[in-house]
Amino acid sequence: MTYDTQPKASHFINGAYVEDTGGTPIDVIYPATGEKIATVYAATPAIIDLAIKAAKDAQAAWAAMTGTERGRILRRAADIMRARNHDLSVLETFDTGKPYQETSVVDATSGADSLEYFGGMAATLTGEHIQLGDNWVYTRREALGVCVGIGAWNYPTQIACWKGAPALACGNAMIFKPSETTPLCALKVAEILHEAGLPAGIYNVVQGMGEVGHALVTDPRVDKVSLTGSVPTGRKVYAAAAEGIKHVTMELGGKSPMIVFEDANIENAVSGAILGNFYSSGQVCSNGTRVFVHKAIKEQFLARLAERVGNAVIGDPMDPDTSFGPMVSERQMNIVLGYVEKGLAEGARLVTGGARIERDGFYMQPTVFADVTDDMVIAREEIFGPVMAVLDFEDEADVMARANDTEFGLAAGVFTNDLTRAHRVAAAFEAGTCFINTYNDAPVEAPFGGSKNSGVGRENSKAAIAHYSQLKSVFVRMDDVEAPF
Ligand code: NAD
Repeated sequence: MTYDTQPKASHFINGAYVEDTGGTPIDVIYPATGEKIATVYAATPAIIDLAIKAAKDAQAAWAAMTGTERGRILRRAADIMRARNHDLSVLETFDTGKPYQETSVVDATSGADSLEYFGGMAATLTGEHIQLGDNWVYTRREALGVCVGIGAWNYPTQIACWKGAPALACGNAMIFKPSETTPLCALKVAEILHEAGLPAGIYNVVQGMGEVGHALVTDPRVDKVSLTGSVPTGRKVYAAAAEGIKHVTMELGGKSPMIVFEDANIENAVSGAILGNFYSSGQVCSNGTRVFVHKAIKEQFLARLAERVGNAVIGDPMDPDTSFGPMVSERQMNIVLGYVEKGLAEGARLVTGGARIERDGFYMQPTVFADVTDDMVIAREEIFGPVMAVLDFEDEADVMARANDTEFGLAAGVFTNDLTRAHRVAAAFEAGTCFINTYNDAPVEAPFGGSKNSGVGRENSKAAIAHYSQLKSVFVRMDDVEAPF
């Protein structure tokens, strides 16, 4: 390996790389080979304090700049990200193991979209004027202060930008803690933002495990926490933030349904099921992992699905032809293989896959189970790997009740050519993000987030602004003040 993946230092604070080797070492492993490609150190209490102090000290001056000025910096950063897309995509592939075929079109590009979108929006953020006879109220849309972003390992560049861009557009400072599994990409986001002219202290990156996240969330100088992670972590972080009455955004896990009716275009439905289960080796929160297929077309659907899954090009993620890469870590691969065992033990029919692939790194086969029933563990728990559960149905009302019978509510999809049914089903889904005849699109222009246990708040779109700013109402009286005595 010739690419230099070792960052200059572990943390990026107050506009510069900072190291403290007193923290717990975190080895960064390339999932395609199992090789160590970098070492970073978890933030010590001194590093955490340095980052929070830098953010706190810098925030007011940033918020005092005009939206146009702030936005210009974000949009400049978007341009730099696009110009460096190749290098950033290679690094993302090293960090996550996802194929370059994906990272070169999804990760830094969607990060850049977010910087561009919120950069454009920064200048449009305003309060309103409310006339009350001769008197009036105006509202000021103000920053929250210091925001903490905590990331998952599946989309490290994207998550660093999806949290950072709206936070910065609204005049906040951010401290971002990437997942300990993928610590490299967020440092590049910080570098690029500073190259684009971001004042020191406004976007900081610190490394570490859950304890570092917890220390950030519980610090009284922090005003808001945005987490992308699992439901169990979400419960802990939400509770810790509640102690300090902090604002939160929770982007958590899912077990989303995808319903394929008998009149659906089967080829498109198979494409949707592939995108919603095997992209990023199945490590996508909004994946449609419970695929309900109408009994009339089930065998036809499964036959075509198995055929197309057989076309996956599994191999070196850096090879542009590779369309299916390794799992992010040995641990995650073993968790997912454990679910395959559970599926077999519970009597689900293995249609394809199911095994580890004998080569270096953490590869397993794209896996499809059929004849899955609602009570099986593989139909209830988030697996977060390339395991699709296909379930049968015959009746719309019955499948809707089953689709919604889950603690999660992140996403849901329907494939049908019946226009009214498509919208009826979308309206009935208990999920924050729904798809009709497509799956897993996530453009920055549309709100993204979950209902039920899958989360609180929304990322992307204008909706994100409400989660990174607060309104102050200012009452103005033009006539005399009446008092009772
Ligand atoms: P995780 O919950 O294990 O960790 C997420 C982050 O939280 C990590 O950075 C971790 O260090 C940190 N953390 C752990 N304990 C903490 C604590 N007590 N206080 C503060 N921070 C703490 O999740 P993961 O394994 O990294 O990612 C996979 C999960 O993320 C899946 O459940 C997936 O569905 C979810 N996810 C959700 C979205 C979304 O947008 N809804 C996107 C991607 C991933």
